[in-house]
Amino acid sequence: MKSTTHRILLYLLLLSMMVTAAIGLSLGYNLHTIDRHYQELAQEMGRTFFKELVIVRRWNAGLGGIYAPVTDRLQPNPHLSDPRRDLTTTDGQQLTKVNPAFMTRLLSEMPDHTADNIQFHITSLNPINPNNAPDAWECRALEAFERGATEHFAVVRESGGPVLRYMGRLATEQACLTCHAKQGYQLGDVRGGIRVSLPLAPFEAAAADSRRQIYWMHGAFWLITLALLWTGGILLLRNVVQLEGLNRYMKDLNKQLEGAALTDSLTGIPNRLYFDQQLESNMRSNQRYGIAFSIIMLDLDHFKQVNDGYGHAVGDSVLREFSQVVKQQLRLTDQFARWGGEEFIIAAPHTQVNHALSLAERIRTAVATYAFTTAGSRTVSIGVIEYRAGETAMALLERVDSALYRAKTNGRNQVETG
Ligand code: GH3
Ligand code: MG
Ligand code: MG
Repeated sequence: MKSTTHRILLYLLLLSMMVTAAIGLSLGYNLHTIDRHYQELAQEMGRTFFKELVIVRRWNAGLGGIYAPVTDRLQPNPHLSDPRRDLTTTDGQQLTKVNPAFMTRLLSEMPDHTADNIQFHITSLNPINPNNAPDAWECRALEAFERGATEHFAVVRESGGPVLRYMGRLATEQACLTCHAKQGYQLGDVRGGIRVSLPLAPFEAAAADSRRQIYWMHGAFWLITLALLWTGGILLLRNVVQLEGLNRYMKDLNKQLEGAALTDSLTGIPNRLYFDQQLESNMRSNQRYGIAFSIIMLDLDHFKQVNDGYGHAVGDSVLREFSQVVKQQLRLTDQFARWGGEEFIIAAPHTQVNHALSLAERIRTAVATYAFTTAGSRTVSIGVIEYRAGETAMALLERVDSALYRAKTNGRNQVETG
């Protein structure tokens, strides 16, 4: 019973560990996916920002630059060598040319962008404007572009916190050659790139939110699964314990019934059914191993007189005392049973007839010399035979019965064989 309980507990523990491992794996995978997802989202935003700038630049280049009024905030571009850089309208308004590079720089310096914390920087390994010279990271990206890469990104720790740096490649298009042909650029050459910096804090805040949700979901799922598992397990355990108890009770009852079925209720010694089983087994041992055994049949003499003279209760007590007197003469291996009424029978394994005869004689004397309560002195007649190989149980019993009958007819209180 203990082992079943232990086995169920072990299975529950193993299942709990498997559930925990599976949920742990799912948690790890989901957390990793969230991190990747937000990083990809930041990259995509950087890429989109870059593409938008390229569209605006292409528009500007396509127009061959655009003119804007000169103001305090917009002074002519000193790096643009174009004879038509500065124009004056007929009414005296001074205009200056804003080419794509100049426009990009002006846009990058707009205070609105810094407020959004998205910053960008146009740069080249060979800048016309020294302000557009690359930093170390940009330099590595530009070198990668020279080798064929079209974009470059990394998470960089900056003073304001982690930032996703995205840099897209700018290739020379027809419209670019207007200004850049003199630097030796040809169509399709890598001319530089625009670096976009996106602070990761908003992405990390969103990721932290998603992570919290994932933790909660997995934690709740884990708790519910384990609670269900253990509730089911404990119910099962309770049923098993009940069933085992019932099983034990049934086994005990069976043993008691078996005992009762094989015991004589008056004398407490085995009954005829038990003896029949023993006889079968003795006969099998004889067939297989040639083990000899003898049968002794006993019948109390004039027992009817006891009942008639002293009453049935005294008759009963004589039967009980008789069985004890006989028992005292027997070995543990001898099989003694009440055959019916005042008749008893003994099977003596490993015993030849001469030894069985001496045993019978000892029993006869013991009974004859015993003083029974109230009934006083009683005698017994005994038949003894040894089993003959191949003999049936019925033939064996008939033989011992006739030996007993002879003992009776010869005058009782004696032993006969046949
Ligand atoms: P015999 O010497 O020829 O064996 O004579 P007997 O009187 O012993 O034999 P008989 O067969 O005539 O009588 C047996 C008696 O045993 C009859 C029956 O009432 C009695 N008897 C059988 N079983 C029991 C029992 O359980 N208790 C009591 N008190 N008497 C029993
Ligand atoms: Mg009899
Ligand atoms: Mg008798």
